[in-house]
Amino acid sequence: RGFDLSDAQTLARIEAAMTDPLPDAAPLSMTAATGTTRPVVNPASGAVVAQVTEADDATVARAIADARIWQAPAPDRARVLRRAADLYEENFGPLFAAMRHEAGKILPDIVGELREAVDFLRYYAAEGASVPAAPRGPIVAISPWNFPLAIFTGQIAAALMAGNAVLAKPAEQTPLVAAIAVRLLHQAGVPASALQLLPGDGATVGAALTRDPRVRGVVFTGSTETARLIARSMADHLAPGTPLIAETGGLNAMIVDSTALPEQAVRDIVAGAFRSAGQRCSALRCLYVQQDIAPHLIAMIKGAMDQLSVGDPALLSTDVGPLIDAEARQGIADYLAQVQGQVLHQLATPETGHFIAPTLIGINGIAEMQREIFGPVLHVATYRADGLDRVIADINARGFGLTFGLHSRIDSRVQHITQQVHAGNLYVNRNQIGAVVGSQPFGGEGLSGTGPKAGGPLYLPRFFASPAPQAGEWDGP
Ligand code: NAD
Repeated sequence: RGFDLSDAQTLARIEAAMTDPLPDAAPLSMTAATGTTRPVVNPASGAVVAQVTEADDATVARAIADARIWQAPAPDRARVLRRAADLYEENFGPLFAAMRHEAGKILPDIVGELREAVDFLRYYAAEGASVPAAPRGPIVAISPWNFPLAIFTGQIAAALMAGNAVLAKPAEQTPLVAAIAVRLLHQAGVPASALQLLPGDGATVGAALTRDPRVRGVVFTGSTETARLIARSMADHLAPGTPLIAETGGLNAMIVDSTALPEQAVRDIVAGAFRSAGQRCSALRCLYVQQDIAPHLIAMIKGAMDQLSVGDPALLSTDVGPLIDAEARQGIADYLAQVQGQVLHQLATPETGHFIAPTLIGINGIAEMQREIFGPVLHVATYRADGLDRVIADINARGFGLTFGLHSRIDSRVQHITQQVHAGNLYVNRNQIGAVVGSQPFGGEGLSGTGPKAGGPLYLPRFFASPAPQAGEWDGP
């Protein structure tokens, strides 16, 4: 299954999807919203591409009252999710167009994201057959803009597969991808009362959803600060013990020692730091290079950066697209102004749109980084061979263990480092990028996340295989 890229017709459809105007998604399948209207902005051009009516407190309250657990037997639910996966693949055109127009994504990222979303649907459908899950009730799913289809779909698919009713709140920047996805899920057979879409911003819709005592669980992916707010609100308002799965940010490091294969290491460094314009939770933020190879390796990194094409995501030649919005761009521009004296290399920035060009910053170590810089900014430090354990201690001290990469050809050193570093996902002599549903379940440790890893065998049973609700505990049918 998937795309046959050798098929000329498929390629023509992909090309059309990358140049087509945005499909008419806004009025689709959103719970009759009564709130304010928000413009959806194309981050590459700054143009308003749609207006979306957001939910308000009354809409949220009504949606929770309307939510009904999905009564169908597990094999039937699995069949519906598989059908949804097929529909995602058949209808990739509108999904592609929406991902480009509202998230500014480039084609390889869009293809990868659709693949991941489809994998989540099929993976949870398959896994759900063997998990004795009992629905908890209404589950709130809050997702970020950086994977508006894959993370949005993964959260929903897991909760639905266990028979729950899902209230999905997409990021305020990417409601259209969500609307198209929900339409396809409904078309596949998910009942409208088991999946409702509630577009809106975090402070209003997100907050209203996570303080309603009828909610039986929250699945969240986004920043660590927001996860803290949600955990606090749940503790104050929801039944004790209501589960929260939070996948959050990371300060991700990579160590490259002097035995690494330089070409391979540089290829993985540049992909890890600059792909998706650095807007991945898994992205490489701080590189440690062993001192004796540092001048050579850093020169190679600069050379590889110069090969990157920054600009319009509609062009198939583009490697690095825009940041999601003006606020994100400004935050990184302010940061770069602070560290101006440490810039080792920077590409030219396109003049229109929310762009930051790939930038390389010299630092002494990860301890200097104040926060996760969610964009195409790579920090590089050097270390002496006898200082390796100090580097590991520095990385662990940040407590932000989402991903960690290592390039080395000494087995004992690889073993030593990978045993010592605390990170949710380890990448040895390979590309540090992200999750592979089913084979590389994804999730952080410490400040990077709580709960079982997405796309892995523990996710459904740990979170969703709950004891059935007691009589009166859940007032759905
Ligand atoms: P964010 O925390 O600003 O927003 C995420 C979602 O939370 C959005 O839907 C937002 O509307 C909502 N939200 C905001 N305030 C809320 C509140 N008070 N109550 C309820 N909901 C609220 O994050 P973002 O900027 O959209 O995404 C980027 C962040 O996400 C980065 O930190 C990145 O590392 C992280 N991320 C983590 C993973 C992972 O798997 N660990 C994956 C992708 C992104």
